[in-house]
Amino acid sequence: PLTTADLIEEHRICVCVRKRPLNKKSELSMKDLDVITIPSKDVVMVHEPKQKVDLTRYLENQTFRFDYAFDDSTTNEMVYRFTARPLVETIFERGMATCFAYGQTGSGKTHTMGGDFSGKKQDCSKGIYALAARDVFLMLKKPSYKKLDLQVYAAFFEIYSGKVFDLLNRKAKLRVLEDGKQQVQVVGLQEKEVKCTEDVLKLIEVGNSCRTSGQTSANATASQPRRIPDHSPEEGKMHGKGADTSSADRQTRLEGAEINKSLLALKECIRALGRNKPHTPFRASKLTQVLRDSFIGENSHTCMIATIAPGMTSCETTLNTLRYANRWE
Ligand code: ADP
Ligand code: MG
Repeated sequence: PLTTADLIEEHRICVCVRKRPLNKKSELSMKDLDVITIPSKDVVMVHEPKQKVDLTRYLENQTFRFDYAFDDSTTNEMVYRFTARPLVETIFERGMATCFAYGQTGSGKTHTMGGDFSGKKQDCSKGIYALAARDVFLMLKKPSYKKLDLQVYAAFFEIYSGKVFDLLNRKAKLRVLEDGKQQVQVVGLQEKEVKCTEDVLKLIEVGNSCRTSGQTSANATASQPRRIPDHSPEEGKMHGKGADTSSADRQTRLEGAEINKSLLALKECIRALGRNKPHTPFRASKLTQVLRDSFIGENSHTCMIATIAPGMTSCETTLNTLRYANRWE
């Protein structure tokens, strides 16, 4: 039986941390100070600010280790290379893949997964969704895949307060069902065929524009590029899932609690899988229910990107994120 340590050793669960730079507008103008250092490629340190100031609080040095730690100079392309890129390989080996971002509002989830939404012009061409789409379509051009004539479908839905909404179909509320083969289905979810990266970018824009709380305080969303072989069903389904989850300032505490419940449920499921327990509590939340297929397959891979803000004013939340991301065993 596989243990959680085995799953990690096999790189079936990859946990990373990404630190963003101090924001020009809010943090730097408030003279917030950087308390996060990434001394090596897999270590995150939380410490007192380097500049000597009149400290309002004393920060004990704390060190956390992850599969990868990305500092504030790391580009999306680089983060992608170590996180979702290996998952693209997985889905082309008939596996299931899940990549999601976790962290406080404003820590960089949307920037990482979706792209640059800071200016007026929303640019989703450099987010992980787009980079993964680019590589999926590149792979499909290889002769061995080209001859299979595969089709790619994308879906984009939001889980909000335990309910599922279709972002590509005017936020229609959807039910989640388990079919006879123990497969989980989001009933009626729109799956649009996409033929190139631009098609995916357009869907991201459409979906983003109807998310419940706007792009900065969204709850939990998942996009699901799906490859269904047209002429060779024996190839099986190749699946990829992506998500951007958050607990937010402007959200009610209830919503925050719902997200925490989902994320704790997610952790419990992965732990239970690792310990090879007969019962894995997928039904504990909508998030784990819809992600279930991504975990139970033999060749299933999950990558979590925990995003953190560098400032002293965020250090309480940052420590919580690091602790959540740290303890997967
Ligand atoms: P979240 O989705 O977690 O609420 P955002 O992705 O919206 O956070 O990021 C908050 C702000 O910080 C945005 O203005 C974004 O452009 C900026 N930001 C986030 N991550 C980075 C980064 N790695 N480099 C530069 N700016 C970033
Ligand atoms: Mg966001």
